[in-house]
Parts: sequence; structure tokens; C-alpha cells
Amino acid sequence: MIMDNFDSPFLYHRPEVDVEGVKKAIVYKLIFLIGRSPKEASQRDWLNATLYAVRDLVTEGWITTARQSRAEETRRVYYLSMEFLIGRTLSNAMIAEDIYTTTQAALAELNVDLEEIIEKEVDPGLGNGGLGRLAACFMDSLATLAIPAMGYGIRYEYGMFRQKIENGQQVERPDDWLEKGAPWEFMRPSKRFSIDFGGHIYFEGKKCIWKPAEKVTALAYDQMVPGYKNNSASTLRLWSAHGGETFNLEEFNRGDHLAAVATRSANQNLSRVLYPDDSTWNGRELRLRQEYFLVSASLQDILRRHFRTHGTLDNLADKVAIHLNDTHPTLAIPELMRILIDLHGYSWQNAWDVTRRIFSYTCHTLMSEALETWPVEMMAKILPRHLQMIFEINDHFLEYVKTYVTTDMEFIRRVSLIEEGHQRKVRMGWLSVVGSHKVNGVAAIHSDLMVTSTFADFARIYPERFTNVTNGITPRRWLAVANPKLAALFDQYIGNEWRCDLSQIEKLKAFANESEFKRAVADIKYDNKVKLAQYVKKTLNIDLDPHALFDVQVKRIHEYKRQMLNVLHIVARYNEMLAHPEKDWQPRVFILAGKAASAYYSAKQTIRLINDVANVINNDERLKGRLKVVFIPNYSVSLAQLIIPAADISEQISLAGTEASGTSNMKFALNGALTLGTLDGANVEILENVGKDHIFIFGNTVEQVEALRREGYRPFDYYQNDEQLREVIDQIIRGDFSPEEPNRYHSLIQGLQYHDYYQSFADFRSYVEAQKAVDKKYQDRDAWVASTIQNMVNMGFFSSDRTILEYAKNIWKVEPLKLEH
Ligand SMILES: *Cc1c(COP(=O)(O)O)cnc(C)c1O
Repeated sequence: MIMDNFDSPFLYHRPEVDVEGVKKAIVYKLIFLIGRSPKEASQRDWLNATLYAVRDLVTEGWITTARQSRAEETRRVYYLSMEFLIGRTLSNAMIAEDIYTTTQAALAELNVDLEEIIEKEVDPGLGNGGLGRLAACFMDSLATLAIPAMGYGIRYEYGMFRQKIENGQQVERPDDWLEKGAPWEFMRPSKRFSIDFGGHIYFEGKKCIWKPAEKVTALAYDQMVPGYKNNSASTLRLWSAHGGETFNLEEFNRGDHLAAVATRSANQNLSRVLYPDDSTWNGRELRLRQEYFLVSASLQDILRRHFRTHGTLDNLADKVAIHLNDTHPTLAIPELMRILIDLHGYSWQNAWDVTRRIFSYTCHTLMSEALETWPVEMMAKILPRHLQMIFEINDHFLEYVKTYVTTDMEFIRRVSLIEEGHQRKVRMGWLSVVGSHKVNGVAAIHSDLMVTSTFADFARIYPERFTNVTNGITPRRWLAVANPKLAALFDQYIGNEWRCDLSQIEKLKAFANESEFKRAVADIKYDNKVKLAQYVKKTLNIDLDPHALFDVQVKRIHEYKRQMLNVLHIVARYNEMLAHPEKDWQPRVFILAGKAASAYYSAKQTIRLINDVANVINNDERLKGRLKVVFIPNYSVSLAQLIIPAADISEQISLAGTEASGTSNMKFALNGALTLGTLDGANVEILENVGKDHIFIFGNTVEQVEALRREGYRPFDYYQNDEQLREVIDQIIRGDFSPEEPNRYHSLIQGLQYHDYYQSFADFRSYVEAQKAVDKKYQDRDAWVASTIQNMVNMGFFSSDRTILEYAKNIWKVEPLKLEH
């Protein structure tokens, strides 16, 4: 590393990274930071001591990288996201620093089992699902590629709820992830910003003045995200709301102390909890406040840093790229406009040019109910200046449309940033498109549909603005950390470069037909299944046969993801097995996991039905253990790391045209599960990469789905015409799986019979046939293993490193740092 006069950490000695050195470092932390002697230390004390010791190693590279990127005055990217689902840090950091086995040996000498303490680390649930996990994979890739970047999010005191299952039903418990301390984070007492809310605006001539009524303080907490073996790390800065200086100033000045304090507790609540709804929390005032809180704190921080380095904002757009992970941080667009115009005296046109060069936006959905809108009235109350700015942006935008595109009033009404009607609303998706220079979808099919459906009008106005960047996953966490045995096997055959260049994995093709390699792959899968079976036995007391085919669907519970279709097939299979017990049935284990939003009734009912069905099937002696169903509670990144490497089949069965990309489909394929999926999201590209003989595709295409909708889809016809489907539906509706409450699933099932918005009935037959093909293929174990290998070796494209390089080159225009150390 380089030394210079000011920044050299001359008082700091990097601990020797041998067993003795690591041992010393851990014991030192235990005694002097935690205040325990090795004799009294609990498992958690050892965990925290180890985390502190490993953190020291990451910190050095982190500081050096930050200094280098400051010195080079390079363009930087800031990734704004309301969610970061990062998972546990310890094992990932040890692998990044290449000290896993050293640490393991050091702890062993202290009579501590590394794997045991790893399991003790809390898994911060600061995200709902795919969107938050994508942000975490991106941070990992940004660090590994040494791209000058920073993530900004919220440090929710309570993350995603902990899910318990009681009497088959989901029960939500608070996720108090900070209770046991968070040794990985750095509190930054000096990085604090004041965030304004409410009040009123007035004009002095042309100048707009905002007199806010409330203030809340944002305090920074930094998490280091280590790059893989590059002695570098990037920063994830999470904001915490600090109530200490919060007052309703107007009320306070009027002497209304009580009311002022009441507001204080409302604002202290700002970073209290993550909204647990995956896509539809529109219209809740606290959520709007959270979004502005993230945006305002992050922009103040970005501009302060820029000004410190460059002494002017005039080159802002040359040095700063800000990415919006979905529309949640879109208030950053009017916020930057406000800062440039109201606080720095920029002209409207000048400010708008700068703003549009800075922002880019990723759309994560197609479903209209998931598109974010805010009532004008609510925004007027909380963010009066921003609302006014949005109106102004709208005026300029509509003027442009009328001048250069069309004067068709219907078109203009459709693209207006303000939805007219009984309750006027701000359309955040439209605002994001208008205020960004690039808008991308997250898989090829999604980006295509985006410009023909959701954003069709905008694609006509700004055709060059829309692009695709297919999602990816980090091979560090999803292979090296999650599946260490498979990772070691790959290292043995092709070296370890695949860890930061996943395209290298193709080199394994040379060994794809070697029986020794195949046997090793199969053995590792078996070991991973044993490990999962042990977990299920310990936590749920259910016996699973690791020789059975493990069929897995783990993801948020949502109607469009069609866990119900999975259940319908499970019951159909159960019936067939009972009707023909003598047949040579391929033993199967169906594994499901996922959380339902707390207010999402049919999703919660689906969980209950899965558990009711599991209860009946798992206790039916006639099946001789050849069919099992388990719902594993509290799905999380850590559980995903345990479950995915144990899967034979990856269920990706959303209705075509509804899953924007999916990322668990990539994790599964990389770990050697075969996809059973529809032509939806990234499944389409997985098919292209692995080839049709190594994947099971079923169901209607997007075109067929749309045609059905157009012609009037009648699920009841499918029910009447398909005997097997009819039997399943009749059983559930009759209460065969809920004899103590026969009506339990009436409304759930009737919803399918008469509406079935996500067309499960239409795809049922083809799904059952595809499941038969799965059984058949599994009989020929050699062909099966060959196919799993074809999946793994063709996953090079799906690394988030590739994704991030595309963003960097085509959207952000940023370059990796050439690391000096
Ligand atoms: C990858 C991942 C997801 C996304 O899963 P999809 O099947 O793509 O929806 C959700 N939650 C966790 C914990 C994950 O790791």
C-alpha cells in the first residue's frame, strides 16, 4: 500500500494474517472492545470479536480506496434504494479477504467452532425481497470491480418482520436486528443533516421560499462492503432518523409544547420500520416521509462531498451519476431542482439540463397496481415545494410534447405527471422517466414489454431513452459463500478466477462428461440436501429423504408468482399416488418458503393452505414417505443460502408477463437446479443460455396470456373440462384439508374459479405434464446430472459483475479505479 504524509495509518499495524495473528486479534477484541475474558465469553461474544477483527482487515482497504477515489476526482455513482437485503456479513467478508480457513483454525485453537458462530449472526432484513437483494448484489459487484460508488439507504430499526407459523398461519414478529449490537457498522456522528417537512411556500418575485414546519435529523451509519480479494471496499451509507432535535417549529413558537412533542415522536418513527409490502404501500404518509428522508439526506451528502472536492456545482453532472432503484427515491429529481434553483440560483433550464444528465432509473415491474402514485393533497402537506416543482416540470414537459410530439389531448392526459380524477395523484413512474436520461428494464422480455405497454407513450416521446440491463447475482455470495463444496470443486478444476469473472465457468465444459466430475457434482448436491434435511428435522421435526427429488419454490408469496399453481399440482399428485399406490413413484419433497405482506389476505391464506396440505400429506402412511411437503418459516438471505444449493428443481412459475426478471432463478441454476418455469422474466434468457434440453418450460406465452384476457378468460371452463383439476378444487373447497373448518378456503378457491387473474387454471395442464417430464428425467440420473452441469457452466452471463459493467458503461459513464495497492 502507498504511504503519504497525512493518511498513512502509521499507528495501525495490520494484524498478521496467519493463524497466530488472527487469534491474537480476536482475543484482543474480545477483551478490550467487548470486555470479556475468553473464559467467560459466550458464542455471541466470540462472534462479535471475530467480526471486529475481520472488520479491521476490510477497513484498511476501504480507507485507501476512498482516498484514491477522492484524489482522482473521478465521476462517481450513487445508488439510491429504499432497500438493501445484504445478508450476514462474516462469512462473505472472510471469503473476500481470503482468511476463512485461517480464521477457522485460529478459532479452533480457542475451542470455538466458526460455523457455529456464523449461524449466530443476525441477518439484517432491510428489504422485502428481490429488489433489495439486487441492490445488495450490486454493492458487492461495485466493490469487487472497484467502481467509485456509494449506496444510500435507510437504517430501519426494525427490518422485515420475522415470520412464525402458528397453527399453519403466518404470524408476524418484530425484527429487532439491532438488539444484539451491529459490530459491522460505523456510526458517523459528524455526518448529520437536517431534513425539512411540511409548512408552506411563498414567492419573492420569482424566487420560491419554503418555510418548513418540521425538522428531523438524519444520522449516517456506514457499512463496508468488501470487494473480492482486491483490498478494497465500497460504502453503504444508511440514514437513521434522530429525534433529538425535532420540533414542530411553528407549534413550538406558538407555545404549543405538547403538540410539538407529539410531532417529535412521529418523526422519530421515520426510520423505525420497513414497510413489509412488496409492491403496494402507496398512499401512506409515513412512507412518503421515509422516501423524502432518504433523498434529502443523500443529496445533501452528495453535494457536500462534491463541493468539498470541486468548489463548485457547475461540473456536477460531469462528476455525479445518481441511480434510482425503482421510483421510491424519485423525489430526488425535484429535490435536486429545488436545491439548484432555490438555494444556488440556477436558471430553470440550466438546472433541468444538469438534473437530467445525472439521473437514471430502473423500472422493476409491469403491473399497474405496483406503479407508485401519491395523492396531490398529501404531497402538498408534506412537501409543498416539491409538489410545486413537479407541477412546473409537468408544464415544461407537456409543452414539449405538444410542440414536438402530438396535440392529441387524450395522449397528453395519459402522459401528464398528474393523474386527474376524483383524487389527483402524482405519477412517480412518469416523473422518473421524464427526469432521467436512461430508463432500463431488468430482463430482455421485461424491457421489451415496458416500451410496448407501461411506457409505450414515453417510448414514443423519448425512444432513445429506454434500454435493457438484465439482472445478475453475485457469484461470491451465491456460490462461494452459499455452496463452499461446489466452489472448491470448481477451484480444483478451473482455478478460482470464476469468482470475479463468472464467464470463466465455461471452462468446466471440458469436464462436463467426465464421470469423476459428474460424481463429485452429484455428491455435493446430496450433501447439501442432507444439510437442509437436518435443518428441517431440527426446526420442524419433519423427516426428509435426501434421495428424494427436492422441488423448491422460495420467494415472496404473491398471486402473480402462483404458489397456488404449485399447491394444485401437489394435491393432484397426491391423488394420483393414492389412486395408483403400486406405481414406481419418484419420491419428491416440495419445499416452499416466503413471507406474505401483513395485509395481503389471499397470500396469507395460501401459506395456510400449504401448511394444511402438508399436514395431511406428511401424515398419510399410504404414501410410504414418497411425498413430503414443507413450508420453511422466515425466508431470508441466510435461509436462501441453505435452501438453494439443496434444490433439484427451481420453480419459477409466474404468469408470463408478470415477473420482471427474478433473480432466485439465477441462483438456483448456478447451483445446479433445473428450472421448471414459464417464459417470463429472466427465465427466457436462462433458456437461451442453457438450451431447451436442460430446462422445463411450460405454460402460455405473453401473447397467449394477452389473447386470453382479450377474448374473455373463463377459468370455470378449465375447471369443468379438466377432471384432475376439478377433483383438486372440489377437495379443497369441501374442506378435505381443513376438516375442522370446511369453509376455510371458499373465498380463495372461488377467486380462482371465477376470476383467476393470474390464469393458474389455464396453465395447470401444461404444468402437470411438465412435472411428469421432470420425474421421467430424474429416473435417468446420469442425464440429470449432465443437465445440472449444463446449467451451472452456462450461467456466466448472470453475474451481477456483468450487469454492473453494463450500467457503468452504458448508463452511468463511470470507470473502475485502477487500484494502487
Ligand atoms: C434472491 C432473493 C429473492 C428474490 O427471489 P425471486 O424468486 O427472484 O423473487 C427474495 N428474497 C431473498 C431472501 C432472496 O435471496
